[in-house]
Amino acid sequence: MRKQRAALVTGSTSGIGLAIASELASAGMNIMLNGFGDAAAIEDLRAGLANTHGVEVLYDGADMGRQDAIEAMLARAAQQWGGIDVLVNNAGIQHVAPVDEFPVDKWNAILAINLTAAFHTTRLALPHMKFNRWGRIINIASAHALVASPFKSAYVAAKHGIAGFTKTVALEVAEQGITANAVCPGYVLTPLVEKQIPDTAKARGITEEQVKRDVLLAAQPTKRFVTTDEVAQLVAFLCGDAAASITGTVMPIDGGWTAH
Ligand code: NAD
Repeated sequence: MRKQRAALVTGSTSGIGLAIASELASAGMNIMLNGFGDAAAIEDLRAGLANTHGVEVLYDGADMGRQDAIEAMLARAAQQWGGIDVLVNNAGIQHVAPVDEFPVDKWNAILAINLTAAFHTTRLALPHMKFNRWGRIINIASAHALVASPFKSAYVAAKHGIAGFTKTVALEVAEQGITANAVCPGYVLTPLVEKQIPDTAKARGITEEQVKRDVLLAAQPTKRFVTTDEVAQLVAFLCGDAAASITGTVMPIDGGWTAH
């Protein structure tokens, strides 16, 4: 029987990351959860996933903006499971403001969490994947890895950056049984999106309802939000053997947004 695989899903206490962690646990993988939130709620989540799916689930609260915390989390995974077989770089934050008013600390945090963290996790996870000649790296990018929107300079820069990083890693490890792909969701109604609605309304001088209808869903030909479950199932597919030839892609799951 194949050894049970271990997956690290960064930013998995909420939204898309939580759906991915649940999906991979249901596929029989051991899971390292990561992200912020109420300690008791996270423990409920951790124990619930472990009990429901009969897998090991650890939680590490590493701040993905900090290199030392990332290194400690990967060392913990290596001690527990020998290393990470499936790496999902998902943790992300957003800030909406005109570029000439963009707070410098927000720029630095977005670049650190949405881009540089994936460099650290990837460099630390790869030696184990190379040794096993098997691995999956899935970066949750965004439609904003392919197109821009005003007032999201740091986010768009970080997401375009992760697209390039993904392609580079894919080329470097292509002959070693390891794939690297970027998944690019359109708008998914998670706390990350809900939180930016008031700021977008302010930046554009419109109501919050208008932001949902005329800014967010206006971009999406399907006129509905992508669901966390749809993204999670795509990630699970990319983890399977049927996806062994899919690598170096920057793959939209955006209701047709980037077809415009
Ligand atoms: P979310 O706010 O619901 O979840 C973000 C997760 O990241 C949470 O678990 C949070 O605790 C964690 N996190 C935030 N800062 C962190 C840090 N410094 N260290 C560790 N964990 C941290 O957001 P979401 O919508 O589920 O977003 C997940 C990913 O999907 C992000 O990379 C985001 O850019 C991307 N994405 C989201 C959408 C969308 O419409 N929601 C669209 C495209 C891409």
